[in-house]
Amino acid sequence: MKKALIFLLLTVILSIPTQAYAERGIPILVYHWIDEYNGTGQKELYVTPKNFEEQMKYLRDHGYTLLTFEQWIDRNKVNKPIFITFDDGYKDNLNAFQILKKLQTRKFKPAATIFVISEFIGGIGRLTSADIKMLTESGLISIQSHTATHPDLTKREKLEFELGESKEEIENITGKPVIALAYPYGSFNSTVVEEAKKYYQFGLTTTPGPYKEQNMKNELYLLPRTYVKYSTTIEEFAKIVE
Ligand SMILES: [Zn+2]
Repeated sequence: MKKALIFLLLTVILSIPTQAYAERGIPILVYHWIDEYNGTGQKELYVTPKNFEEQMKYLRDHGYTLLTFEQWIDRNKVNKPIFITFDDGYKDNLNAFQILKKLQTRKFKPAATIFVISEFIGGIGRLTSADIKMLTESGLISIQSHTATHPDLTKREKLEFELGESKEEIENITGKPVIALAYPYGSFNSTVVEEAKKYYQFGLTTTPGPYKEQNMKNELYLLPRTYVKYSTTIEEFAKIVE
């Protein structure tokens, strides 16, 4: 009897953090390059492999559950859910993959999403089809769409190519459904959202902040994401995710 009571109490106590977390929102982080800054592009879009590893270790050691969008339905069942995403499909995302793989334990299963630009696959400094296949088959990485050519979608008339063809192209490589779209430059309007709904279950912006369920119209197509930058310290990182 006493044992049953203790068990019941433990179950109640253990379920509290998850609920509290749901109210605080679910962080969705966005990265670009995982490399030393080499002079190409904006420095703040880089995170060094050393910092990235420190950040992922922080998540592991603080009991986070890394999810991909295929696992969206699990977000309220797991402890401290968080989504790690990368935009643009840079080759150095392989550094991130190696780090995530290294940090895997029996209890901690790393997971992340890479949003690739379908027409840029295999281009200079970008992931190749073979990389994408390997990442998908690892079971740690989900490959999703960042359009075909990375335009500002609000300035395009026809979106079928950017949204539909890119999805198909990526699915042909991975053999898995592409269900999420990251809007280039985080740029969207109501037309873009309506078009995105034809092909995808999720649309990701770069509006900062954690995701909070509000049952708002189209909220899954307006998912916020917070940048992790070159200058982000581990203390700042802890604040973003807590
Ligand atoms: Zn981009």
